[in-house]
Amino acid sequence: MFDLNKLIRNNIRNLKPYSSARDEYKGAAEVYLDANESYHDTSGKRFNRYPDPLQRDLKTEIGTIKNISPDQIFLGNGSDECIDLLYRCFCVPGRDNVIICPPTYGMYEVSANINDIEVKCVPLTTTFDLNAEAIHNCIDDNTKLIWICSPNNPTGNLLNKSTITLLLKSFEGLVVVDEAYMDFAQGISFLKDLQSYPNLVVLQTFSKAWGLAALRLGMCFASHKIIEILNKVKPPYNINQSTQQIVHQALKQVNDVNSTIKKTIELRNSLARMLINLPGIEKAYPSNANFLLVKVQNAKEMYRKLLSVGIVVRDRSNQLNCDNCLRITIGTEEENELLINTILQTSID
Ligand SMILES: *Cc1c(COP(=O)(O)O)cnc(C)c1O
Repeated sequence: MFDLNKLIRNNIRNLKPYSSARDEYKGAAEVYLDANESYHDTSGKRFNRYPDPLQRDLKTEIGTIKNISPDQIFLGNGSDECIDLLYRCFCVPGRDNVIICPPTYGMYEVSANINDIEVKCVPLTTTFDLNAEAIHNCIDDNTKLIWICSPNNPTGNLLNKSTITLLLKSFEGLVVVDEAYMDFAQGISFLKDLQSYPNLVVLQTFSKAWGLAALRLGMCFASHKIIEILNKVKPPYNINQSTQQIVHQALKQVNDVNSTIKKTIELRNSLARMLINLPGIEKAYPSNANFLLVKVQNAKEMYRKLLSVGIVVRDRSNQLNCDNCLRITIGTEEENELLINTILQTSID
């Protein structure tokens, strides 16, 4: 039923991709005179040569950690590049549409607008879960992608797994499950379902649990055929050498990352317990991520007071069903304490 060949845009199916010097000669040589690089290395770190366009070493290591074949991995300059590429490969501007479930991550909509793709909104329920029936009713012949963010940003909760599976079984376009925060959830990733569903795309990132946001490295997992299409369209050297090297080193720190994740979960749970007892706080929504969505009596006022002592949080009040909600990232124990004390203090003033 699912036909990738029907889903891909005509111009992309017919595209003859750019072939870089490093695509045409992949081996090791004594003398490289093929890419118009300089023989002089200004950085002292061998940055005078173009990086591997397909990041083979990194993908082999990531494949081992995630238990997935390297040819099912695409790496982007942040997940944001993966999001943009999915639009450019599969959605015809001015004709196709996608479904998002607000309140959710803003880039799905911004990237759609940039690419002139219509966005259909199917709001999450009042408990911030997927509305399967409404999504089904919203799908039409031009619906190409459904964006699912789980754990969801800004609400923090995992979305219903069986609803997502139902969509994977019934929808003829791609179901993109953004798992940017999955490391903080005790939930089960959709990675292991890739073999069962040819229309599944999973996004993960080095920006959150891995602590490498500045390096800009996003992961996209899908069938080998989908990955081939993304590779065809991406800029030739989209992941710079510095990022490839530093992430290569960081991947050896997996134990360190895992203990930070554990600690963050503990800090999150204790921060939630403390917050709900404070004056001016209505509730902290259950979170499976490294942040809390907190409903307060007056978001604007609390935002201002926190900022006045140098604490910046995210006011999400203008998001659907998030009136007076602040999104607060879990910081260090000291930072969280300062947050608590500031909220206590302002209520006394
Ligand atoms: C932070 C975040 C990302 C990560 O984006 P990068 O471009 O990889 O930094 C992706 N999706 C969601 C929902 C996020 O909150």
